[in-house]
Amino acid sequence: MMVEVPWHCPFCGTEKVTKNGRSSNGKQRYACHNGECSHKTFYAEYTYNAYKPEVKTGILQWSVDGAGIRAIARRLNVSTDTVIATLKKRVLLIFYIFFVIDFFHE
Ligand SMILES: [Zn+2]
Repeated sequence: MMVEVPWHCPFCGTEKVTKNGRSSNGKQRYACHNGECSHKTFYAEYTYNAYKPEVKTGILQWSVDGAGIRAIARRLNVSTDTVIATLKKRVLLIFYIFFVIDFFHE
């Protein structure tokens, strides 16, 4: 049974995560149920950090400016997997922005 928890996997972005016990120092651990994900478990703190709105905005802004995925990850202190997952979700939105800009140029 899937239990609703308010976290995304910080590595692939899926919401298919369940609570998965605690670490020895008491941190809540979660399991990712995306079979293609590079990580099977993660801690809530990582997810929180990766999905702060300013991190998301920063990833999108710098990707539009042409920064590489590794450079973005280093600047925002998140994993490259997080950057890739965020960009995959927003790639249609970015294309839309470029389309609108081109439209008004002509
Ligand atoms: Zn995952």
